[in-house]
Amino acid sequence: AGDEGRAGGRTRWVFAGQLGPLFDDGGPMMIVEARSVFGRRPMHRAKAHLLLSAMRHRAAELGDRVEYHRVERYSEVVDGRDDLEVIDPTSWAVRRFVRRRGVVVLPSRGFVTSEADFADWAATRQGKRLLMEDFYRTVRERTGLLMRGDQPEGGRFNYDHDNRTPPPKNAARLGLPDPWWPEEDEIDQEVRADLDAWQRDGHVTLVGDDGPRRFAATHAEAERALADFVESRLNDFGPFEDAMLDGDWTMAHSLLSAPMNLGLLDPRHVVETVVAEYHAGNAPLASVEGFTRQIVGWRDYVWHLYWHLGEGYRTGSNALGAHEPLPQAFRELDPAAVEANCLHETIDGMRRHGWAHHIQRLMVLGNWALQHGYDPVALNDWFVDMFVDGTPWVMPANVIGMSQHADGGIVATKPYASGGAYINKMSDYCGGCVFDPKVRLGENACPFTAGYWAFLDRVEPRLQRNHRMAQPLAGLRRLADRDAVVDQERHRERW
Ligand code: FAD
Ligand code: SF4
Repeated sequence: AGDEGRAGGRTRWVFAGQLGPLFDDGGPMMIVEARSVFGRRPMHRAKAHLLLSAMRHRAAELGDRVEYHRVERYSEVVDGRDDLEVIDPTSWAVRRFVRRRGVVVLPSRGFVTSEADFADWAATRQGKRLLMEDFYRTVRERTGLLMRGDQPEGGRFNYDHDNRTPPPKNAARLGLPDPWWPEEDEIDQEVRADLDAWQRDGHVTLVGDDGPRRFAATHAEAERALADFVESRLNDFGPFEDAMLDGDWTMAHSLLSAPMNLGLLDPRHVVETVVAEYHAGNAPLASVEGFTRQIVGWRDYVWHLYWHLGEGYRTGSNALGAHEPLPQAFRELDPAAVEANCLHETIDGMRRHGWAHHIQRLMVLGNWALQHGYDPVALNDWFVDMFVDGTPWVMPANVIGMSQHADGGIVATKPYASGGAYINKMSDYCGGCVFDPKVRLGENACPFTAGYWAFLDRVEPRLQRNHRMAQPLAGLRRLADRDAVVDQERHRERW
């Protein structure tokens, strides 16, 4: 990248999402550690630790090229300065803040496509829906990733159908080597002590366990994590993308969302590394295509939608009339009272790591919240605060749109609701559960299965005109024990 911004002797202020070499053009830098950012709402301890650790590690790398400030609020450092520039920040709030103070703003980085690329593409859609799959194909064609001339590698753009393998039967784990884990250093020790003190003094409310740091905090660590994924898990990534096992919290996932969202890794480099494995004959196309789609498709798409749908999208969408507060088990990441094994294990994993894999997020946590009508804004913010990779930009399309259908169908054509049968097929959770996924009425009725029908009963009037819901709603109308199931779920105490 060029260094136009430095001609005027400006200092580049980088944020927690901009901590890698991609955001550095060689001039003077500034990082501001503002404690108020950590104290606005309860936050997972692993997330607070990772953010602080990554900022402080970056400062150590930059040495005397960086000003590092530890303050309560950004304004203490920024007000009155006219020598600052930023690469366009990643949230509406911070973009507003820097513009109001006259900071010079350079175009954003950290995604495969630029905001201008997306705007060009959206303009060509003229009133049509902005589907991820269409966007993804355009990006493949434009970048040449996994393309043979103008044709997709292997003849198809999408190998999703090959990527829905249930987990192996009677296996507690996928049987892959343990992922590479970073080694903590004295910076992590200092972060830990500071967080203890901040919590003790009431500056922050931290939720979840204080365990060893599991996610990369530096560019070098992130490269190491990428190499480990390619070596040990990429081949199994595709087939087991949607599978869940009680005893295997990482499965074949890459664990790269946090380092990418911190700006430590350029996603284009991540994808090119993985695609090179396919071309070298080391990895199957279904896995490589599936992974490529997650990055150049989904990740870029939800980023662009964050800006395209506007700031009001997060708070202004509640198409299913969901207003329930989040329960204590979610707010405090306390699985103690949760008997549903799938939910118990997912919340427990979150408590320990501040992370869950995609299907746990979508089909366990999100599905549960959808069925129980949790307030979408509260849920959105909970996901931001409780996940190590949670950011304001990533969540609205994923939570308000895809998971909760609160936008009425902009991101996904129908709600991602399902009963226990799906979880039973894609996991080993049900075998160890007090409930039975096949039962919808009585003591051992699965709260996901019964909850699915109770959910449809509640939202039926709102989804009547959605043709993709015609079949499920017809099923609901045929249900002989519909009233009894709905009544049971309304009074459910054990879940
Ligand atoms: P892998 O399974 O290895 O996937 C590879 C990469 O693809 C990820 O690292 C991520 O960068 C990207 N990706 C895949 N799906 C998505 C998606 N839907 N949106 C954005 N990126 C995607 N992702 C986050 O980065 N931060 C979040 O806070 C987050 N919250 C989510 C909440 C819900 C309700 C849902 C349904 C999805 C969420 N995702 C989020 C997307 C996805 O679940 C995570 O990116 C993924 O689980 C992170 O683990 P991983 O790096 O091992 O991913
Ligand atoms: Fe989850 Fe129902 Fe299976 Fe229990 S029976 S693990 S609650 S899906």
